[in-house]
Amino acid sequence: MIFPELNGNENLKNQLRRLEQNNRMPHAVIIDGGSEELRLLLAEHLAQWAVCESDGDKPCGVCKSCTLSKAKSHGDIHYAKGEGKTDIYNKEEMSFIVRDAYIKPYISERKVYILSECDRKLPVISQNIFLKTLEEPPQDVLFIMTCKTAKSLLETIRSRSVVFTLESELSYDEEYLDLAKELALGITAHTEMEFLKAANKLDERAKALTVLDLLILLLRDGLSVYVGGEAELDARTAEALCKKLTKKNYLELIDIVKDSQLKITQNVGLKLAATDLCAKCRRALWQR
Ligand SMILES: [Zn+2]
Repeated sequence: MIFPELNGNENLKNQLRRLEQNNRMPHAVIIDGGSEELRLLLAEHLAQWAVCESDGDKPCGVCKSCTLSKAKSHGDIHYAKGEGKTDIYNKEEMSFIVRDAYIKPYISERKVYILSECDRKLPVISQNIFLKTLEEPPQDVLFIMTCKTAKSLLETIRSRSVVFTLESELSYDEEYLDLAKELALGITAHTEMEFLKAANKLDERAKALTVLDLLILLLRDGLSVYVGGEAELDARTAEALCKKLTKKNYLELIDIVKDSQLKITQNVGLKLAATDLCAKCRRALWQR
């Protein structure tokens, strides 16, 4: 198996290699640990592996199935969509998935279903619908569930799946987290002074990138609390943000921060990147 950038995770890679070599890749897997982004990265990678047409190492990245799966348009890879404000996989959707799983794949040898962030989106009633299919899964299907911790799923679901646990990836200084909090609160402050004051402390590229990683996590936390979930990094900042931000705000701000990180990696000056970030965040917030 060829691996994506998983920041170490050697134990997990060995586990996957062993399963592949012994031809014992399960029909249902749960990916937990790591970050939401990393969980999805691995889920999509396994999906691509499952549909890849290469006779050699998979996923080859160049066959038709790999190309389609990278473009998220492979007919045999189904992303559960979820419904409503909280993106819940409801009864109807789960019933569709378990019916659809018995229909033969269109172009590949296997069909894949990706259900992301199941601790939040897959209620017990839907897990129960899923259970029967997991007991006797169709031959050519791979179900991939992601969640913060597999323990949040029913024991009956867990015992019928193989759990792949990602290492927690983020290591940072407390000082960096404080700075990220200042930035987060600065975004919603009355004037731009607070944000710029914090941004001026981003005096090194690596430091700036880590602090912005943390800022993204704080915004994700805020969004998670906003839709009724829990904060992973800092509950107090998340609650403060929630008083001021909407779901749309969160999503826009996360994109803006990611874009700023990209600019920093492309060697845009840190001062310029900070002022640009400040302006864009405030614009996103005050254009109603
Ligand atoms: Zn391929």
